[in-house]
Amino acid sequence: MLDIQKIRADFPILSEKVNGKPLVYFDNGATSQKPQIVIDAIATYYQEINANIHRGVHTLSQLATDAYEISRVKIQHHINAKFSHEVLFTSGTTHGINLVTNGFASILKPGDEVVVSSLEHHSNIVPWQMLCEKTGATLKVIPMNENGELIMEAFDALLSEKTKVVTVNHISNALGIINPIKYIIEKAHAVGAAVLIDGAQAVPHLKPDVQDLDCDFYAFSGHKMCGPTGTGILYGKEEWLNKLPPYQGGGEMIKEVTFEKTTYADLPHKFEAGTPNIAGGIVLGTAVDYLNNIGFENIQKQEEALLEHATKRLLEIEGLKIYGTGKNKASVVSFNIDGIHPYDIGSIIDKLGIAVRTGHHCAQPIMNFFCIPGTIRASFSFYNTIEEIDVMVEAVKKAKTMLS
Ligand SMILES: *Cc1c(COP(=O)(O)O)cnc(C)c1O
Repeated sequence: MLDIQKIRADFPILSEKVNGKPLVYFDNGATSQKPQIVIDAIATYYQEINANIHRGVHTLSQLATDAYEISRVKIQHHINAKFSHEVLFTSGTTHGINLVTNGFASILKPGDEVVVSSLEHHSNIVPWQMLCEKTGATLKVIPMNENGELIMEAFDALLSEKTKVVTVNHISNALGIINPIKYIIEKAHAVGAAVLIDGAQAVPHLKPDVQDLDCDFYAFSGHKMCGPTGTGILYGKEEWLNKLPPYQGGGEMIKEVTFEKTTYADLPHKFEAGTPNIAGGIVLGTAVDYLNNIGFENIQKQEEALLEHATKRLLEIEGLKIYGTGKNKASVVSFNIDGIHPYDIGSIIDKLGIAVRTGHHCAQPIMNFFCIPGTIRASFSFYNTIEEIDVMVEAVKKAKTMLS
């Protein structure tokens, strides 16, 4: 088992007080906290090797470029991509998805179909809607059941030779449900559709293997996996990245520019216009190392224990309902108490130092499905403890008494 107290000491914010109480941070689904090694690596970059990359012959520029490219290779190995040029640095999941939808604008035709799921985050709905509006393609939605699971028979029935893209999240941010993406990818490929997986909620909990999954694109953010904000990765299969047009034009992404014609740089630079978040990209590699040193098996063991305890303890509260009761779940509990607005509970327990998310979690269609305004979402990380869950449960009980 992990020495949780030792791990907690790596995260300076976890010993802060909020509203006079020890912080209980259960909003990991929105963003994770950062270990000291990540915080330090940002300062070290600026103190020791700050320079622009891929441009200078001078030593610092070489050092910065090497560090950036070493981080790319590190992430390539982490997700088991075949080539490092299939790993694009982005500013986050949203950027990665928009890069892909922008590319498909020149591929889709009226009558083509794009399949999304009813469990998606707004950032994996809206860009596809915009794409459909632009191209005349039609958006189809995989429905879900009362447990928050996608209905695979209905998905099978949606697929046809008209299906050009299928996109689904690996793990739902609002409910924590782990989707059967291997099945979805296989079925989508059987009708010739490309598949994008939104891995934003998966990468803090597991190590995706993009070759084993055989997905065409896999997008995620750095800030939910102990890395800095404004960082992310889009993995794309080489053949797809070669097929898609560039997203942004600018410096760094060209081979040759004349006013008659510009030729684009090779991968990955074709998709990395302008000066990127150099420090962020390098330090994302530090975060990946940190997580691998802890070990994803250990992370999962701790998070499973947290999920089990939280589910059991919360269900002791009368009138409390958990949304997302499917079997395959990450360490997220989304719940409501009969007759009480989630916001009211969130505000009261915040006064007690507990950070949870309340609202629709950027997934309004899920809330519409359950006919609720939102939920209280407690999302756990490996650095959370059983004792913290007990503190939250007592706080929720107290809030319930005050509000009913
Ligand atoms: C957080 C999240 C996103 C958006 O990530 P950004 O870092 O805000 O770009 C997309 N999808 C899911 C499932 C998420 O949890």
